[in-house]
Amino acid sequence: MTTIHTQSIEEWFDSTAISPLLIAGPCSVESPEQMLETAQQIKRHAPVSLLRGGVWKPRTKPGSFEGIGSEAMRWLIDAGKETETPTTVEVANADHVELALKEGADVLWIGARTTVNPFYVQEIAEALKGVKIPVLVKNPIHAEIGLWAGAIERFLHAGTERVAAVHRGFFSTAKSHYRNEPEWQHSFDLRALMPEIKIICDPSHIAGDRSLIHEVSQVAMDLGMEGLMIETHRNPDVALSDPLQQVTPSRLGEIIRSLKIHTEVPVEPNAELATLREALDVLDDQIVDVLQKRFEKVKDIAAIKEREGLSIFHMERWLKLVQEQTARAESKHMSPAFIHELFALVHKYSVDYQTELIKKES
Ligand code: PEP
Ligand code: MN
Repeated sequence: MTTIHTQSIEEWFDSTAISPLLIAGPCSVESPEQMLETAQQIKRHAPVSLLRGGVWKPRTKPGSFEGIGSEAMRWLIDAGKETETPTTVEVANADHVELALKEGADVLWIGARTTVNPFYVQEIAEALKGVKIPVLVKNPIHAEIGLWAGAIERFLHAGTERVAAVHRGFFSTAKSHYRNEPEWQHSFDLRALMPEIKIICDPSHIAGDRSLIHEVSQVAMDLGMEGLMIETHRNPDVALSDPLQQVTPSRLGEIIRSLKIHTEVPVEPNAELATLREALDVLDDQIVDVLQKRFEKVKDIAAIKEREGLSIFHMERWLKLVQEQTARAESKHMSPAFIHELFALVHKYSVDYQTELIKKES
């Protein structure tokens, strides 16, 4: 076990050891006092390496607070200087880049609503040609890993040497207690595509609720993510943007101190882990065997439907299945959403299989 410690961004990029980077600061820079006091308190309570602050806020709906702009950029830089903490700001076009560089930001980040647009990403990448500044690229709002990897590639191709990814979750219409679904598997997909790119987790935009920041941060650490970006405000309840998900600096300190950070996979094989994995392997075999038996039955059902001229898909039956199995999941303290998704997949393949069988017959 290790702890998070303050480090330089260059040190972090160049290190191969697991040593998570902490980025903290308000969602938006609101006033010189708010920024400075927040920065001072963060510095007092947590091992922060980069001070964040949004200056231009890409908001989903017009009329929401859209950031103060260039004036706020200065307040962020001043707070950074005063607390001796490097700063990072979101840029969404070449003008933002020019201003952030002029004022002396140390790191830039690309927001989720910008990563979705290759034109803007390319414009920013070109505005950074010949400039040595690290760039953090948030995942696009929707789960399109190609866009995420593509944006990272645009910076690398334009000559930015230090580029990292930020996993901030994905928009979903499914009912969830998160603001954005973590869909952790996408960060594994990104890792598989770009193993050299470090990934920071932004639990604030995943959770959308400050009471969930600790649990999301712990999952990120368990999955070996290399940093955390946590929205922190001196008085979250009166924040002009994202008030529900911001934490106070002292809460940030508590969260960071209580995280379990794994240094590496144990070198000595862990007997308890091995036994549990063997048990999982047996259960996984059983899952495949049961599914195979289910498909055998589906085959017989398809033959009857064909013979009797019945349609393959029966809405009522499908709704009944979902209702019964999600209720069953709930009674067994399992996630109904997971069981719903699992059966949607099983059912999709069952319908495809029957369609294929009936096509062959006719
Ligand atoms: C932010 O970090 O404040 C922000 C707007 O995030 P995202 O781009 O992830 O929505
Ligand atoms: Mn925010």
